[in-house]
Amino acid sequence: MPDRMRFETAAIHAGQDPDPTTGAAIVPIYQTSTYVQDSVAKHKGFEYSRTDNPTRHALETCLASLEGARHAVAFGSGMAAITTLALTLASGDRVIIPDDGYGGTYRLFSKVTPPLGINFEAVNMADPDALGKALAGGAALVLAETPTNPWLKILDIEALAAASHAAGALLAVDNTFASPFLQRPLELGADVVVYSATKYLGGHSDLVAGSLATSDDALAERLRFLQNAAGAIPGPFDSWLLLRGLKTLALRMRAHCSGAAEVAHWLTGRADVRSVHYPGLEHFPGHRVAAKQMAAGGAPLYGGMVALELGSRTEALALCNNTKLFWLGESLGGVESLIEHPAEMTHASVAGSEVEVPDTLVRLSVGIEHPADLIADLERALG
Ligand SMILES: *Cc1c(COP(=O)(O)O)cnc(C)c1O
Repeated sequence: MPDRMRFETAAIHAGQDPDPTTGAAIVPIYQTSTYVQDSVAKHKGFEYSRTDNPTRHALETCLASLEGARHAVAFGSGMAAITTLALTLASGDRVIIPDDGYGGTYRLFSKVTPPLGINFEAVNMADPDALGKALAGGAALVLAETPTNPWLKILDIEALAAASHAAGALLAVDNTFASPFLQRPLELGADVVVYSATKYLGGHSDLVAGSLATSDDALAERLRFLQNAAGAIPGPFDSWLLLRGLKTLALRMRAHCSGAAEVAHWLTGRADVRSVHYPGLEHFPGHRVAAKQMAAGGAPLYGGMVALELGSRTEALALCNNTKLFWLGESLGGVESLIEHPAEMTHASVAGSEVEVPDTLVRLSVGIEHPADLIADLERALG
């Protein structure tokens, strides 16, 4: 097998040699908790499935390869991955998170970790002065997200890495919205990449999983220890489903990106849509940085998420309630299109806080259906 496979090839082959015992072309679902040993403490590399499992092992090898990382560690959800990353911190450490990040991340750092002595600050990371001020207060970890959720703001990962490292902090990037096909934060200076694999990596809305990837050997060893010690692992079946999803990630991402671009451009022509947020639009504030750091095969690609603001809460709710192809639901990144109202759905847990989302905002996860059908659905629902 070649040393350095291209993305599309690694998705099919990394960690996925034919099964050594049977020749099975697809990595089997090793649905077992334990492994029979040859003699005391003499085993074939697996002892207990919380510690390691062959299906999960194949998944982790593939995830690391797609990221260009030395290590990837899989978890039972994106939040399990972020919680395990938080467990690398100690009492007295401070974390800086985005002021428009994933609601569950905000909930974790505002409600779960403060009693452990881990404090946080939510800042607008697109504003270098605000970030600089927060870093000046001392930080062990900066956990960034780009594109952000739900505004799709773009952060410059290289600049964030430089600022974080100058302040002695590690930079973790939640890359869930971009996927490793469009954006590889480690190559831009980040120390850790975080995923909710539930979204684009799995891609079929049929599993919940997460992962962390890093090329820092010491950090990887700590994460691997915590994966086993805290135990927030994915099971063999979900690991297998995720491995299957990864095989088509490149194809799916291209379709998500072109569909989202068509939908976003169409929305900008509507008088009843107050604003459209999509990194591929030329007037979008983060467009130039996105064009620099989000690409596949040398060509910029801007992801499958679109946000739009309507004139009122009533109009936003009417759109969410009236689409037929865009199903009303939380989550994103599946082959089917979804629509949602962040203020009362995904971001309800941040209502009343400094990161509250306006009730005029609607978020779209553009699936891989034909874009003309998706546009017709929106046109009818807006009408
Ligand atoms: C969904 C999501 C998470 C949480 O992942 P789960 O798999 O739902 O636990 C974290 N970050 C982002 C950006 C997400 O979209």
